[in-house]
Amino acid sequence: MLKRPEIRLGLRDTEWPFTYTDHDRQIVRAIVYDADGYFYFVRAHRNDEFGNATLIETSGGGVEPGEDLQQAITRELGEELGAEVELVCSIGVVSDYYNLIHRHNINHYYLCRAKRFGQKHLTQDEIEDFHLSTLRLRYEDAVREYEHRACTPLGRLLANRELPVLRRAHAILREMGEHAVFEAAPGSAELSLEKLLHGNELYKSGAQNPAYLDERIRMKTAEEGQTPFAAVVCCADSRVPVEHVFSVGVGELFVIRNAGNVMSRSALASVEYAVAHLHVPMVLVLGHRGCGAVAAALSGHEEPGALGELVAQVRANIGTAKTAEEAELANLQSSVAALQESACIRQAIEKGELTVAGAIYDIASGEVSFEIG
Ligand SMILES: [Zn+2]
Repeated sequence: MLKRPEIRLGLRDTEWPFTYTDHDRQIVRAIVYDADGYFYFVRAHRNDEFGNATLIETSGGGVEPGEDLQQAITRELGEELGAEVELVCSIGVVSDYYNLIHRHNINHYYLCRAKRFGQKHLTQDEIEDFHLSTLRLRYEDAVREYEHRACTPLGRLLANRELPVLRRAHAILREMGEHAVFEAAPGSAELSLEKLLHGNELYKSGAQNPAYLDERIRMKTAEEGQTPFAAVVCCADSRVPVEHVFSVGVGELFVIRNAGNVMSRSALASVEYAVAHLHVPMVLVLGHRGCGAVAAALSGHEEPGALGELVAQVRANIGTAKTAEEAELANLQSSVAALQESACIRQAIEKGELTVAGAIYDIASGEVSFEIG
């Protein structure tokens, strides 16, 4: 392992009042990166005395009796990420407090290069209570994720502890000439998809939506503007509560709704706005089971007024489909195909800046199944 100047940080818990500490914990953690320039973190969702929140953290954990620090970090990364790593160097030590649980942590940070990934060995608690999963992110996306998660007290403590370490790791990798870290393609659509899937898993599991809906995120987005991670075109049906289906909150999804999730001119214009001005990396068209607009189109029944025009559009979309399920899928496919009529959307796809996907939401199970893209 190389020797480099190390950081030493002593942090206080500014979120909860200090009373006493009943133990100091020796902890090992790592900034893990791979040959393609991606970084690996764990994401946990918790709903306990710290609050209801989704968090990002480096992989790591407590040093066990008889282990030295290097043995401990090797074991932890194997268990949590399934990663076999090369220890590049020590980054330093951050001492911090969690007053709510009377804990003082001494975190020893390492920089590790992943050699290969295999099976993880998570504990039952990590799976069931914390929904622990791996996050693979570019450096910029990781910084953004820490900043976003700093909307809760625990998220702020974690960002205070880890962002200086992540920035130091990034600087070390620059000194080492690890070009991949600085050239990794903006694979943000991958992250968007991952966030949608993870959010839907949480929703299906019955977990309370941990997304931010409070004054702090309202103020932040009012001052800084919106940076949604995807645009979603979906049906107006009240049984499709989009933000809950994906466990997201203020400023995360740009949502366009109409009966039957058809790509009307105004829906297409709204998607164009999200792509051209908000630079969303992903557009998802979300159909659903039991769609009334599709059923109306299938039935052949004529509707008066503007509704008649909308049903006619759905009827054209579903073509010769016979069953409700076939028709819902055909309607989805038509709406996704209609996105291609926009030059701005086509160009964004061709430049690799935009991914378009289609999915069906099951209103009974809560499951989102990706069908297109
Ligand atoms: Zn519908």
